[in-house]
Amino acid sequence: MALCQRCGNDNSYIHLTSEAKTESLCLRCYNGLMTAEFGVEADSYPEGMTIRDGKGTAHYFEIRKRLDPLHIFMEAVEMKQGGYDFKVMGDLYTDQGELLLQLIAKAEKGMAESYVAEGTFPNGQRYHSIRSGRLAGRVESDLSDERMPLLAVDGKSFTWDEFGKMLMSYEGFQVKLQLVDPYDEIEWEDCEQKKEQEQ
Ligand SMILES: [Zn+2]
Repeated sequence: MALCQRCGNDNSYIHLTSEAKTESLCLRCYNGLMTAEFGVEADSYPEGMTIRDGKGTAHYFEIRKRLDPLHIFMEAVEMKQGGYDFKVMGDLYTDQGELLLQLIAKAEKGMAESYVAEGTFPNGQRYHSIRSGRLAGRVESDLSDERMPLLAVDGKSFTWDEFGKMLMSYEGFQVKLQLVDPYDEIEWEDCEQKKEQEQ
C-alpha cells in the first residue's frame, strides 16, 4: 500500500481530492481532518479482531472506521482474496460503540452459515457443491483477470467456472438472484420467519 502523504504511515488508501491536489491519506490523518472540520472525533476502536464462523474456524479481521461530513462508516475486512468483508454505517453523531457492536453482530450473522461444501470424487479430484440450495457472497474483482469478477463465499473466492460446476446438480431448478447493497443485511426467508415467531 502507498504511504500516507501527511504522516508517512504505510496504510494510506483514502484519496482526498481538492481543487488544488490529490492526497493519499491514512485513516487517522483523514479522520483528523474530518474532526477539525466537523468537530466529531473517531472514538478508539480495536484495530483487529478474531471472530469464529459457524463451523468454529477463526477469521482475523482488520477493523476500520472512517468519518465523512454526514456519516461514520465501519468495516471489518479479512485481508485476503475472497475474505469476508462486512460494512455498517451510521450518521455522524451515532453512538460509535453501538456501531462497533452492530459490525460484530453483522459479521457473526454473515459467517453463521457456510454455503459451499467440499468433496472428493472417487478419482481423487476435489469438487465444490452448494450445501443447502442457497448461497450468499460478494462480487469481488479478480486481480489476475479483468474480464470477469470472482464470487467470494465463505471467506474464499470462486471463479464463475467453479460456480457453474456447483450448479450442475441443480439442472432444471429455477434461480433467484438478488444484488444487495454492502451496507444492507442479507436476509433469508426462514430467518425472517423465525424473527416473527420470536416477536
Ligand atoms: Zn497519516
